[in-house]
Amino acid sequence: MAKQQSLHCSFCGRNRDEVKILIAGQDGHICENCVEHAQEIIKVEVVPQKSNDQSDSKNKITIKKPVEIKAFLDEYVIGQDDAKKVLAVAVYNHYKRINQISENDVEIEKSNIVMVGETGTGKTLLAKSIARMLNVPFAIVDATVFTEAGYVGEDVESMLSRLLQSCNYDVESAERGIVFIDEIDKIARKSDNPSITRDVSGEGVQQGLLKLLEGAEVLVPPQGGRKHPEQKMVKVNTQNILFICGGAFDGIDRIIAKRINTNAIGFNVNKELQDYQHDNLLQFINAVDLKQFGLIPELLGRLPVVTYLNPLDVLTLRSILTEPKNALIKQFIRLFEMEGIKLTFEPEVFEFMVQKALEYKLGARGLRSICEGILTDAMFELPSKKVTEFNITLEYAENKFNVTKMGILKVA
Ligand code: ADP
Repeated sequence: MAKQQSLHCSFCGRNRDEVKILIAGQDGHICENCVEHAQEIIKVEVVPQKSNDQSDSKNKITIKKPVEIKAFLDEYVIGQDDAKKVLAVAVYNHYKRINQISENDVEIEKSNIVMVGETGTGKTLLAKSIARMLNVPFAIVDATVFTEAGYVGEDVESMLSRLLQSCNYDVESAERGIVFIDEIDKIARKSDNPSITRDVSGEGVQQGLLKLLEGAEVLVPPQGGRKHPEQKMVKVNTQNILFICGGAFDGIDRIIAKRINTNAIGFNVNKELQDYQHDNLLQFINAVDLKQFGLIPELLGRLPVVTYLNPLDVLTLRSILTEPKNALIKQFIRLFEMEGIKLTFEPEVFEFMVQKALEYKLGARGLRSICEGILTDAMFELPSKKVTEFNITLEYAENKFNVTKMGILKVA
């Protein structure tokens, strides 16, 4: 009788005084020995199965059809249909190429991409969304931090360090990843005339990039930065890494206009069409314009896909606020919801935010700072109050915005 009442492990039967710990469950107990034993079993049975699943899904990238890729992008990015289409096709072809690489006798070349568009129009967002859809490692790097090997600044290979870091140094995964090189326009050749001083942060970097973009085995410093002789390098093959470059290419519209006008000389060009085209010059961009801007022909040869992003107009900015899957306003509503507060906005508040973003020439990126400016006080005060609903009126938004730093520093 007494034996039955004494505490013991329900698995091995050891009594309380024979073990260090007895963990109580609903109808029994387990001792530390049995926990350890159970852990061993889990390790053997479950973990290898899981890692098999993982490596399977890692090696197999399920490619969606271009139409599906675009539909996915539509959920996150507003407008920019041309860029989405071009990207969808390029990414589709790129991953088709990877999946067929061994059996194919026709060698499909890499389709690295350049996206031209003003800052804040969604270049990074597009690249990020594609990486999210494909579930491949993704790194964003800034072209301006690199210099030609041997000079102060980072070596171009260190952009692959970021890719490696993003996938926990799994080289095989990294070799199918996507690198987004931002501000590619900032490494344009400074002038058409070869200068007597070396252009180490412009043309020098472009030269350095050639090897990476084309596909080569490169030695990457795992921690990034500069290569040190004593640092252990990781070998990465860039053959299947997709490079997407983005840049604002300020002033390229003049280059395009000049080219188009030269072409149009002697023709009776419709005035209206000309005006329309002048406002949307970027749509005519091609590699010739990029060369004229200062990208070297060898680099352009390795960036065969060129596309553009439209500047954001009122309607697009308005949609960006509320429509994408993780739209800014949805994010704030969620933040308040977590406090048990139902946040609502008068529709005029959205128009006000868009107007301010346009006024300050901040594009979509500015919408976040404007929203933060308007909502900071509410986010500061409401969690300590017993409020369940909060409505943002136009008057409230204007008052809060006018006392933010942005509101005080009026545009010149
Ligand atoms: P870029 O790389 O062109 O400078 P980003 O892609 O970094 O611009 O955009 C900045 C922010 O603006 C993004 O985080 C996103 O919230 C928003 N954004 C910009 N363009 C769009 C768009 N077309 N659709 C949805 N959001 C956008």
